[in-house]
Amino acid sequence: MPLETRRPITRLFIANRGEIAVRIVKACRKLGIEAVVGVSEADRDTLAARLADRAICIGPAPAARSYLKMEAMVAAALGTGCQAVHPGYGFLAENAKFQSLCADQGLIFVGPPASAISAMGDKLTARQTAEKLNIPVVPGTGQVDGPDKVRRFAGEIHYPFLLKASAGGGGRGMRIVRSPDEIDGAFASASAETRAAFNDPMLYMECYIERARHVEVQILGDEHGHVVHLGERDCSVQRRHQKLIEESPSPVVDPLLRARMVDSALRLARAVKYVNAGTVEFILDLDSMRFYFLEMNTRIQVEHPVTEMITGVDLVAEQIRVAGGEPLSVSQDEVRLDGHAIECRINAECPEHGFMPSPGRILKWEPPSGAGIRVDSHCYPGYVVPPFYDSMLAKVIAHGQDRGASISRMAKALDSFKAEGVHSTLPFHRVILAHPDFRNGRVTTQWIEEDFCRDAYRAGLPLSEGQRAI
Ligand code: ADP
Ligand code: ADP
Ligand code: MG
Repeated sequence: MPLETRRPITRLFIANRGEIAVRIVKACRKLGIEAVVGVSEADRDTLAARLADRAICIGPAPAARSYLKMEAMVAAALGTGCQAVHPGYGFLAENAKFQSLCADQGLIFVGPPASAISAMGDKLTARQTAEKLNIPVVPGTGQVDGPDKVRRFAGEIHYPFLLKASAGGGGRGMRIVRSPDEIDGAFASASAETRAAFNDPMLYMECYIERARHVEVQILGDEHGHVVHLGERDCSVQRRHQKLIEESPSPVVDPLLRARMVDSALRLARAVKYVNAGTVEFILDLDSMRFYFLEMNTRIQVEHPVTEMITGVDLVAEQIRVAGGEPLSVSQDEVRLDGHAIECRINAECPEHGFMPSPGRILKWEPPSGAGIRVDSHCYPGYVVPPFYDSMLAKVIAHGQDRGASISRMAKALDSFKAEGVHSTLPFHRVILAHPDFRNGRVTTQWIEEDFCRDAYRAGLPLSEGQRAI
């Protein structure tokens, strides 16, 4: 490796919180790098703050005044002598401006170059990039600036369609429109949501695929021209377009389909000179078994442990190495996809009350352990879940030799997981794992809302637990 491409990182700044901040601290430990974490006033006492070599307060609790404050993050990173900044996921992770700000100040951004973020950051630009490469995209429109424009296009793309925020993420800024009388309401609420969440009102339309699975391909690239894939993840168990359970390999993808999806993902990554970890998301139409490009996430994803379990590749460590100018530690030939892994996202929410967030003090916290089980979390007994941020408490990941084995491991792990003090979605996941539709790999992205919840409520099943004893 030419020496001049190497930029040694000895101290890294973590511009994030929660479980991903803990995950990044652990990767730093492994690589012999010091970790400094930027915390809000509400997060001084978090596990990441305790585990890191140093924690520095970057502002008050609301994310807009702390985790989204680019200048405060950069100043804290420089002030603590860090050479690199890891943005995690959410917050500033896909912000090209933050990437440039870091670069201007001589800080290494642990992520792709600004040009790749810009090419993929908003969904409309990403769709154009994919179309140029002959990668199928969901039939749709360019920007629609008002309900009249939507009405005009509606005749062409047919009902139902989705109104989608070009800047969207986390399932926000998206509305299904099933008939003309829904257009005005859907337009108003989607544009209000995207304005508030992303400070960007741009909307477009996409055909709505009724029976779909979400399948995505994990990519890793370095500055030396290597781009590899690490197989797919199936994230079809969703509620309100947000992932609840992810697994790899997908139960509906055969080797031929996998080869075609992976080829599209690699072509896209190469076309934008992709460096670092990224994910190319596709939607698979179960009626035609055709797949369409949805978006590319230019960051580490929540569900990355699923891929780590089946490949043995430490994705966060690879991100940091690559950011330091080193080549990937694996070639495509060396990537082995071994067995099957599943992840359940456990949230502090109450499904019986419309998944209302349930902040508060965790009284009991006994996560599962054992062969093939991994838990990524920032929680501990006595931790107070703040009301300001994402409600995710933990990710439970199970690995087994095949899908059946990883499902039974997961089911046992969830049974033994004890969390008390706040409501959690643990029982919700237990019921999903036992459901024949899930066990048989027969779910669609609408399954939770259309079938599962209705059945579970009708059967009177407990879907949450752990409320504080009064
Ligand atoms: P993943 O595929 O990694 O699960 P999600 O879309 O679920 O990605 O987002 C992961 C986290 O990042 C969630 O907490 C979500 O709310 C947040 N997030 C995603 N996109 C954005 C964005 N553009 N701006 C702010 N937060 C985002
Ligand atoms: P986000 O940035 O919020 O993650 P995505 O475009 O990745 O937005 O879509 C999130 C989820 O919304 C998908 O996983 C899928 O369940 C659903 N979705 C998105 N586009 C479509 C579509 N055209 N048809 C059906 N479902 C869709
Ligand atoms: Mg997405």
